[in-house]
Amino acid sequence: MNEMFLLKLGEVVLKGLNRGAFENRLKSNLARRLRPYGSFNVYIAQSTVYVEPNDDGCDVDGAWDACHTVFGLASICRCRPCEKNTDAILAAAVAYLGDDLSQAASFKVESKRADKRFPLTSIQLSQEIGGRLHEAFPHVAVDVHHPAYTVYVEVREHAAYVHGPAEPGAGGLPTGMGGRAACLLSGGIDSPVAGYMIAKRGVELECVHFFSYPYTSERAREKVLELARLMTRWCGRMTVDVVGFTKIQEAIRDQCPEEYFTIIMRRFMMRIAERIAREHGCKALITGENLGQVASQTMEAMAVTGAVVGLPVFQPLIGMDKEEIVAIARRIGTLETSILPYEDCCTVFTPRHPKTKPVLAEVEAIEAAMDVEGLIADALANTEKVTVRYHDGAR
Ligand code: ATP
Ligand code: MG
Repeated sequence: MNEMFLLKLGEVVLKGLNRGAFENRLKSNLARRLRPYGSFNVYIAQSTVYVEPNDDGCDVDGAWDACHTVFGLASICRCRPCEKNTDAILAAAVAYLGDDLSQAASFKVESKRADKRFPLTSIQLSQEIGGRLHEAFPHVAVDVHHPAYTVYVEVREHAAYVHGPAEPGAGGLPTGMGGRAACLLSGGIDSPVAGYMIAKRGVELECVHFFSYPYTSERAREKVLELARLMTRWCGRMTVDVVGFTKIQEAIRDQCPEEYFTIIMRRFMMRIAERIAREHGCKALITGENLGQVASQTMEAMAVTGAVVGLPVFQPLIGMDKEEIVAIARRIGTLETSILPYEDCCTVFTPRHPKTKPVLAEVEAIEAAMDVEGLIADALANTEKVTVRYHDGAR
């Protein structure tokens, strides 16, 4: 076995009594995510997850990719284990990092001695390995202040490990430790990012999508399911409840003043999403709302929209700029699909002059003339549940 991963725990280390539960969850999430890539031994010690391929049949590159999207990890690195003596450490560094090292302008060695029985201190070990590496690669200068490349040596309980610079992990908390929430998923840029951000806090997701056939096309529905599929790389498998919303939109068009179309439509969405959420054991709703972005996202409009639900509504994008949201969408891999030009039910029957400061009493008076319960029951009866499994979309 000549290559394995060291994954450093993130915020999990701040947990007190329930730290064990967080670690166990992280371990089982990792084991599940690595299963498609072969047999791996996964164990946690000293705030680090060790991932060792059990045989040569493992797809180590595939497993490495998967590690980037597992929540709960601060940083991740590939490394070579070796015996705990300086000759073995030097040989491992030369064989494993020699290519990278010989191309660098300068280098240093940084050591960590977690096993205090090891005879050299960290500084002595760095000096010893650094000196001997410099003999092996005399054209690469030693620079302890601003090295172009750093060789890391970690002396731990069972072995020593050498590696190059670590990469950032996915951060957050292990999926499943924070309960479940329902994400209102449109086909836009914002809602997949909103779902991702709450999922990162250890929350399992269910998605709810409102679909107004024939005003919105089958392809728009497929686009949303593809977005959900892309999100599973981070969030794990989920169910998307695709709610038939046509009758409600037609009722709103026929019975409400035009300037209130959007706000009343959003209130129907929230009511239905809440019922679906409760049915799935979700304890909150998630939306991609963003203060001031559109007329329905003023404080007044959000107060009127939020007034129909009892569950907390999480709006993780509320204070972000579009540019920041787009950068996250690009990084998590949903942007390209989000910008495909299919219509959303929000764009059907859009008022020319939406109310930016709706008054709750006026909205309630308009809705009092509608068969709100009947429409909701009809939409719920017209809901298709689609299970979206983990899929390793383009990275
Ligand atoms: P997005 O980019 O997520 O579509 P948006 O900026 O276009 O957001 P709106 O269209 O006002 O904003 O929608 C606000 C939020 O309402 C969305 O982020 C999403 O959470 C929810 N939403 C809107 N349309 C739908 C839909 N058809 N199905 C499910 N949720 C929706
Ligand atoms: Mg939208």
